[in-house]
Amino acid sequence: MISFSIQPNTTKSPSATTSAAATHTSLLTHHHSHQLSFSSSTPHHHHHHSSRRRHRLRVRAIDAAQPYDYEAHLVNRFSQSAKLKIAVLGFGNFGQFLAKAFVRQGHTVYAHSRSNYHSIAQSVGAAFFPDLHDLCEQHPDVILICTSIISTETVLKALPLQRLRRNTLFVDVLSVKEFPKNIFLQVLPSHFDILCTHPMFGPESGKNSWQNLPFVFDKVRIGNEDSRVSRVETFLDIFKKEGCTMVEMTCAEHDKYAAGSQFITHTMGRILEKLQLESTPINTKGYETLLNLVENTASDSFDLYYGLFMYNKNAMEQLERLDLAFEALKKELFGHLHEVLRKQLFGKSEEGGLRRPMLAKLPKNGNGTPLLPSQSETLRNTNN
Ligand code: NAP
Repeated sequence: MISFSIQPNTTKSPSATTSAAATHTSLLTHHHSHQLSFSSSTPHHHHHHSSRRRHRLRVRAIDAAQPYDYEAHLVNRFSQSAKLKIAVLGFGNFGQFLAKAFVRQGHTVYAHSRSNYHSIAQSVGAAFFPDLHDLCEQHPDVILICTSIISTETVLKALPLQRLRRNTLFVDVLSVKEFPKNIFLQVLPSHFDILCTHPMFGPESGKNSWQNLPFVFDKVRIGNEDSRVSRVETFLDIFKKEGCTMVEMTCAEHDKYAAGSQFITHTMGRILEKLQLESTPINTKGYETLLNLVENTASDSFDLYYGLFMYNKNAMEQLERLDLAFEALKKELFGHLHEVLRKQLFGKSEEGGLRRPMLAKLPKNGNGTPLLPSQSETLRNTNN
């Protein structure tokens, strides 16, 4: 369909190039709310027709580019130069998900993985290379590491770097950031560029759109040359174009935030999964949120979760905090119960008397740590 704008605009969309050749009648509204009926039969006719109208009504055709139009050629040439050859290493769940978006945006995708994903790659529009040497000889602009966190080092060290172009851009999407940054710096020669990223979404949470989903990145090492600076921007543009919220922060900052948010989320999801929660006829909104959390986290591999734990130095502290929080909560509950029970048992006789701290009177375990009421109960039962 031919569209008009009252704004000055010289952009010509390629899709309109073909549609403009068709004959149509379109009904348009201009800024004084007058309606204009417009028709064209040939491209030339249309061009002439629209400019005449434009003058009188200040309405401009914005997308009536014709195949012979010089400007359209320029646009096309520019968009070609902004296309990247991206090698996705690790063509599993997340690698495939990202590859689809790259292909959709017109980039060339080469894939490599431990397993053979030849037909999946084909269906996605990517070329699969079972041999890493063959892939590197394609001279990709970007090597994107999409492998599991725990296999990254092995994968990276197996790469025939000498077959790549001298200043290839290395990017990773691992869910932890300091770890890949450090191996990149350790393994890659200084003439390679390094961009560490973490799309804060996955095939499940980003299946409909990436609009407003955070994309974290850290330009760890990018050479000064214009081509290298623009290559990294072109790569980041992929996520910008999908509507991601672009967040630039250091890998260390990321890991701190992620341990307190993502790792906790995955841990809670996995704990709840073990409870095998089921939907009921009276689900509350809160309960639905829990069911969704299980669904979101359960589809990720255990390798991923284990990676979040092992390769983020802040994760252990978070796990301990979680443990403490659960214990403190139970203590609060049982303490309250204990208080009520004592009142019932001893009534007013205790009032004003010597009241020792609640935990002091409880039986102790082997280490001398006071047991909680529930534990002492269990102990008594098992001793029977
Ligand atoms: P994953 O289990 O973390 O990784 C699976 C990928 O790692 C597959 O491509 C697999 O290859 C490869 N792999 C596993 N062990 C390997 C080994 N020993 N040698 C070589 N390759 C090995 O699951 P994922 O969800 O696809 O995640 C991939 C990466 O993206 C991870 O680093 C993850 O942290 C990151 N990420 C994931 C998400 C998400 O939501 N899923 C979001 C953001 C970032 P084969 O399939 O060929 O066996």
